[in-house]
Amino acid sequence: MASLCRIASQRVLQNVTVFGQTKLRYENHRGFSGSSQQKASMTPVGFIGLGNMGAHMAKNLIKQGYPLIVHDVYPEAVSELQGKGAQIADTAAEVAEKVDRIVTMLPSSPNVLEAYNSRNGILSTVKKGTLIIDSSTIDPSVAKDVAAQADKKGAVYLDAPVSGGVNAARDAVLTFMVGGKPEEFEAAKELLQCMGKNVVNTGPVGTGQAAKICNNMMLGIAMIGTSETMNLGIRLGLDPMMLAQILNTSSGRSWSSDTYNPVPGVLDGVPSSNNYKGGFSTALMTKDLGLAQNAATNTKTPTPLGSLAHQIYRVMCNKGYSHKDFSSAYQYLKEEE
Ligand code: NAD
Repeated sequence: MASLCRIASQRVLQNVTVFGQTKLRYENHRGFSGSSQQKASMTPVGFIGLGNMGAHMAKNLIKQGYPLIVHDVYPEAVSELQGKGAQIADTAAEVAEKVDRIVTMLPSSPNVLEAYNSRNGILSTVKKGTLIIDSSTIDPSVAKDVAAQADKKGAVYLDAPVSGGVNAARDAVLTFMVGGKPEEFEAAKELLQCMGKNVVNTGPVGTGQAAKICNNMMLGIAMIGTSETMNLGIRLGLDPMMLAQILNTSSGRSWSSDTYNPVPGVLDGVPSSNNYKGGFSTALMTKDLGLAQNAATNTKTPTPLGSLAHQIYRVMCNKGYSHKDFSSAYQYLKEEE
């Protein structure tokens, strides 16, 4: 991984000769950090939003040698990063003042708007030529709006939502779906390859979010399908481990059955085996299915199962499952008669 990051660093530094506004910024990196190309890219990086995903992603940047300046509205979220050497900033504006590359990993569109547009937000102090990578899953139209506002400040905003879950964030094997111009995408790859395995340019700004909400609509549906299936099989007297093994070598297999099985005890190290703690909350899945439904309405696309899955997760939120991992769909269905 370290060598991958080094290769990417060199590519960025070559690319900046044709990178327009960010050119100056990256040239500054060279002067700022010394003569070596690898060292030049190790200037501090800002990281905002240190929750289930962001904390792992930030730690992977630290592991690769990047000095971090971090911020989260929840003070406890920053303490672990502080212990690993990150500098703490009280506001997003303070982060933006001090760095020229920022990664944000926030729950939803309103949180992104707050972190970027509020009085103490990123855009209040962002420097010209700053590269901003937003890995939150949000409405594609919000991503486009924030990109336009960043552009007015001379900064570049890319939407780069991720797929893979907390274990993939921990192991730096996330998939990044990146919306932005090809040369901006190339510049972002250096950091993204330190946190992920697959980094894909999906097209212009906003298309990363489009790819992400399509993926999550499928995931949300598949998790309910897996939960229903496992619950039925168990009620028919089948051993859950044996049933999972059969599904995982049969045509019913999915990520929800083989990597993130919702039944406690079937897999180690997943939220279902930890009382559905951590992972991807039902509230966030409900948010993503809502984004998919908005997009489906705007494009007049029929998504009957996406709509039904959205309703089921909304009911779960009302019944106390909102902070539990979304695989608690199994527990919810199990408790229903
Ligand atoms: P989380 O709720 O665990 O973490 C979000 C963090 O952002 C929290 O620590 C919160 O305090 C902080 N925050 C909120 N508003 C802020 C603000 N204005 N300024 C600074 N910090 C702020 O969420 P998560 O599970 O890490 O997910 C983050 C994003 O990644 C979401 O958009 C989610 O949909 C997406 N995602 C999550 C997973 C997963 O498995 N958890 C997988 C893929 C994508």
